[in-house]
Amino acid sequence: MTVCVLHAAAEMFPLLKTGGLADVVGALPPAQSQLGTHARVVLPGFPAVLAGLEDLQSVADLGGAFGAGNVRLERGVLQPHGVVVYVVRADQFYDRPGNPYLDAAHRSYADNDRRFALLAWAAARIAKGADPAWKPHIVHAHDWHAGLAPAYLRAFERGGAARTASVMTVHNLAYQGTFPASEFGALQLPGDFYAVEGVEFYGHVSFLKAGLYYADRITTVSPTYAREIQTQTHGAGLHGLLQTRTHDITGILNGVDYSIWSPSVDESIASKYTASKPSAKSKCKAALQERMGLARDDDALLFGVVSRLTEQKGLDLLLSAVPDIVQRGGQLVVLGTGDPALETGMKNAAAAHPGAVAIELGFDETLSHSIIAGSDVVMVPSRFEPCGLTQLYALAYGSLPLVHRVGGLADTVVDSSLENLADDLATGFVFDTFDRAGIVGAIRRAFALKSRRTDWKAVVKRAMNQSFSWEAAALEYAEVYQGLMGR
Ligand code: ADP
Repeated sequence: MTVCVLHAAAEMFPLLKTGGLADVVGALPPAQSQLGTHARVVLPGFPAVLAGLEDLQSVADLGGAFGAGNVRLERGVLQPHGVVVYVVRADQFYDRPGNPYLDAAHRSYADNDRRFALLAWAAARIAKGADPAWKPHIVHAHDWHAGLAPAYLRAFERGGAARTASVMTVHNLAYQGTFPASEFGALQLPGDFYAVEGVEFYGHVSFLKAGLYYADRITTVSPTYAREIQTQTHGAGLHGLLQTRTHDITGILNGVDYSIWSPSVDESIASKYTASKPSAKSKCKAALQERMGLARDDDALLFGVVSRLTEQKGLDLLLSAVPDIVQRGGQLVVLGTGDPALETGMKNAAAAHPGAVAIELGFDETLSHSIIAGSDVVMVPSRFEPCGLTQLYALAYGSLPLVHRVGGLADTVVDSSLENLADDLATGFVFDTFDRAGIVGAIRRAFALKSRRTDWKAVVKRAMNQSFSWEAAALEYAEVYQGLMGR
C-alpha cells in the first residue's frame, strides 16, 4: 500500500527559509515521492509561500478558528518537483512583512501560540478529510511550530474521528514554543490535555512537548543528537520525557540536495569544479576575497562561516580564536545575522584586521554559496548541533569542515589526526572540548595539513566524495512510517 504523509512545517525552501528546517522540508518530500511515498506539505499562508506556488486553488473553508477570522485551506504546487503544498490562508495571522516569527523589532509576535496552533490544527483537519481528494495516513510534524498537530489528532479522535498516526521530528530541541498557561484556553484542546501527561511543561504550555508526548514516533536529525537529547546536559528539560520514549526515537541524518549544493552544477559560484578536477576552486577563492575586500592571496588559508549568529553556534569561541588565525597568515569571512552582541563582535574583529577578516551581516543565499565554495575551511564550532547542514555542504565543495564533536557534526566529519590520515578516513577537523584550546588546536591542524600539499589534496578529494543523500534519509523515514501502518 502506498503511504500518504502530510508534513506540517513553518518553512520550506525555496519558498521561505530562515534555517536548516526549510532545507529539510524542501528536499525530503520530493525524495520520498521518488521512492513511492506520497508526500505533501502544509504551510502557513505567509506572503512568500503564496507568491511561490503555482495553481493555487481553494480546497475548503475551515471556518473561524483561534481568532484568525475566516480560515481557508488552499492547495498549490511547488515546482520543479511538483510537490503539492496546502496553505492555511489566514491573512490576519500570516500576512505580515519580514520574518515569519518576529516583528520588525525582532520580538516574537504576541499571538505566535495561536498562529502556529492554527497550522497544527489545520494539519489535523486535513487528516480528518478537509480535502475530499486526499487524506494522509500519517501527519509528520516538524519542530514546535507544528508540535500541537499530534495533540489535535488525539483530540479529534475523542470526537469520533478515525485514528491518524503521527511523527514528530525535532530539528532543534532548544526552541520549544513555550507560552503562558493562561493561553491554553485559546488553543481549542480538551481541558484535561493541560497536564504533565499532556501539553503542560513547568506551569506553561509547550508546543514541542505536546508533540513529543502525543506523537506515535519521534525522530531527530542525527543519531548522536538522538542520544544526546535523552541526557540532562542536552535534554533542555525534556530528557525525562524523552527517556520514557526511548524506544520510539530514531536519529535520521539529514541529506544534501546535490542539485543545489554541488560545485559541478552551482550557477552562483565563480567557477564550477569537481572532485577529479578541483583546480577551479581557487577562482572561487579569489572571487570571494575580492567580493569581501580581503587580500588577494591564494596561499592565505581562508576560513568561512555561514551561520545564524546565536549562542548555539559557538561563534563567541571563534571570536576568541581570530588572532590565532590572523597571526598564522589566515583569513576569515563571516556571513550571518542574529544576536546584536555577536554582530558587534564580528564587526570589531573585521575592523581590527582589515584585509584579513571580513563580515557581512544579513541573510544572502548567493553569498552563502560563494563562501562555501571559496573557503578552504568552513567552521561550525557549535555548542550543540542537531545535524548541521553547512558542514555537509562544505564537504561537497571540498572546503574542509572544522567542527565541535557534538550532534550531527560528530556523525559527519572525521578529524585529520595522524591515524585518520594514515587510514584514509580524514575529511576535516574536529575538536572535543568546547574551549579556546580545543578550537585553536583544530585551527593549528588545519594550517599543518595545508602545509602538506599532498595530504591536503587527498582530504579535499575524500571530503568531496562523501555522500549524504536524501534518498538514504527517505528510506529511513519510510521504515519509521511502515512501523506505524496497520496499527
Ligand atoms: P540552523 O538550522 O540551526 O540554522 P543548519 O546548519 O541546519 O543550521 O542550516 C542552516 C542553513 O541556513 C544552511 O542552509 C545555511 O547555509 C543557511 N544560512 C544560515 N545563515 C545564513 C545567512 N546569513 N545567509 C544565507 N544562508 C544562511
